Amino acid sequence: MDEMHYQIDLLKAMNEKLLGSEKMFRMICGTSSNAFLFYSFSEKRFETLGCWERYFEFEVKNSSDFQNILSCVKEKYSSDLETALFCERTGKTSCSAECEMADGSKWVEFEVTISYDDDSKPSEKIVRVRDITKAKKQTEDLKYMAYYDALTGLYNRNYFVRLLSEWVRKAQVEHTKISVMCMRLDEFRKINDSMGMIAGDEVVQLFGLFLKELQNEDVIVSHFYEDMFFVSVYDPFGNNTAERIFRKICERLEDTFYITSGSAEIKSTISVGVSEYPESARNSLELINCAEIVMLQKSEKGRNSIDYFEAPMLLDFMENIQLENQLKEAIESEDFELYYQPQYDSLSNKLRGVEALIRWRKHDGKLVSPAVFIPLAEKDGMIVQIGNWVLEEGIRSFKKWYDKYKYPMMLSLNISAIQYKRKDFVHKLLRLLEKYQVNPELIELEITESVLIDDFESVVEKLHTLKEYGIKISLDDFGTGFSSLSYLKGLPIDTLKIDKSFIDTVIEDNSTRVITESIIAMVKKLGCETVAEGVETQEQFEYLKGINCDNIQGFLLGKPMPASEVDKLLAAV
Ligand code: C2E
Ligand code: CA
Ligand code: CA
Repeated sequence: MDEMHYQIDLLKAMNEKLLGSEKMFRMICGTSSNAFLFYSFSEKRFETLGCWERYFEFEVKNSSDFQNILSCVKEKYSSDLETALFCERTGKTSCSAECEMADGSKWVEFEVTISYDDDSKPSEKIVRVRDITKAKKQTEDLKYMAYYDALTGLYNRNYFVRLLSEWVRKAQVEHTKISVMCMRLDEFRKINDSMGMIAGDEVVQLFGLFLKELQNEDVIVSHFYEDMFFVSVYDPFGNNTAERIFRKICERLEDTFYITSGSAEIKSTISVGVSEYPESARNSLELINCAEIVMLQKSEKGRNSIDYFEAPMLLDFMENIQLENQLKEAIESEDFELYYQPQYDSLSNKLRGVEALIRWRKHDGKLVSPAVFIPLAEKDGMIVQIGNWVLEEGIRSFKKWYDKYKYPMMLSLNISAIQYKRKDFVHKLLRLLEKYQVNPELIELEITESVLIDDFESVVEKLHTLKEYGIKISLDDFGTGFSSLSYLKGLPIDTLKIDKSFIDTVIEDNSTRVITESIIAMVKKLGCETVAEGVETQEQFEYLKGINCDNIQGFLLGKPMPASEVDKLLAAV
């Protein structure tokens, strides 16, 4: 009897222990956010553990039939799960499948593990169901980032190159033409500078959205950076699809873009450069480069232009690169000279001052015009170093002349917008004036309107600081670009230089005369001095003097000359 009691107690204890460990397993499985399905082949018994209800609305009963469960599961998922769920049929010990719920709400992984008995018959099966939505989304995001551009949702550069490479391989076999179009919005820089980057981004997005509509199996559209887009056209019938696409774009650009930041209607034209396979180049990267070279060379032209790659362009481009490299070396070894062009008071004929104009002396002794290398230097920032050299050299020479001749002439220095906008510009200039002990009132900075376009307020603040020190400001090339007299009202400008293009036609052209006369009359009322530049004939001189232009600069009275010639000029005054 005792023995029996003992056995019963033992069984009870074992049972309790079993119940305890089952509870423990259930709890552990419950916290894992997975769902488990256990199936015993010998007992034909099912058991579910974990968060079954998170994945399925139906309950699995011990009596349920596995086929029935499968059909319920299959209903919920879009892909075929049968192979994975019944992997014992192929004798495998494990199998897995990823699938999306039919309603698109989740991605789920099924992991099936089978154990076999000694006769190689399946004995137990465990199906683990796991939510992989987050991981899937991350992979999708990574894939998206790898292929698409975040701003426009178009293909990015890397993916475009990949697709174009595939096309080139196909075209080799099919003898097909491919056109690669590189395009930029002509007004983008202005929009960015005047309305800010957010407005610029919005225009890019809207334009990108329009380009996306042009995409089909023979047209791929990509956004590289800023406002640079590429469109590639697979043209099996040589239909000049690129031209048709260009015309469609121009039609769209006849309308404005409405941008919410700044609530403005913006209009722009486009510049397009086209390269063609196989004529221009025979691989994707070269095709892209050639199209970009065309676009870069023609971007000055603007106004809805389309230009095709021609071999000499590559030569020009290479020459430009070479020039750029040589310019870098020239900066290192300071292969520059400063020339000075005199300016005279139109009434008294007295020397008013000189404008410093840089020259680059190449190793072969030839001089390169600043009109060639200054725009190049502005493109990649070299202008700052060049500009600093000009400031120091100009002020140093000026000091020497002043000490020697005591003649109170002005020194006019050309300042590039990039140089002017540097935070340390004013500080550097003041330090130089201090170093050479030069009176700031004899220094005049020639700036162009491009200085004023971007961040108007900080530009004006700088102008006021310069003015406080007595430094004069001259607005160069007036009449070109989008100069407007209304600009001048709020600006501390001392001098206005009327551009040579006005002087060139002022004698023959009546409307130029009217404009020039009214500019001079109005500017005088604002208290500014005037300088006419590029005066080449006595007739121009007399006329300008007659309409009260204060000062004259030009080949008629003196060409830009080296410092030694200025010495002679000063010795004679
Ligand atoms: P700019 O400031 O408008 O300078 C006047 C240009 O017109 C000079 O050309 C000058 O030689 C030329 N010029 C003056 N009078 C006459 C004339 O009667 N007839 C003709 N045909 N030309 C005349 P340059 O020296 O070749 O300079 C070209 C431009 O390069 C300058 O135009 C200026 O924008 C830029 N530049 C020159 N030196 C510097 C510099 O030190 N720094 C910066 N940032 N730019 C400079
Ligand atoms: Ca100038
Ligand atoms: Ca000028």
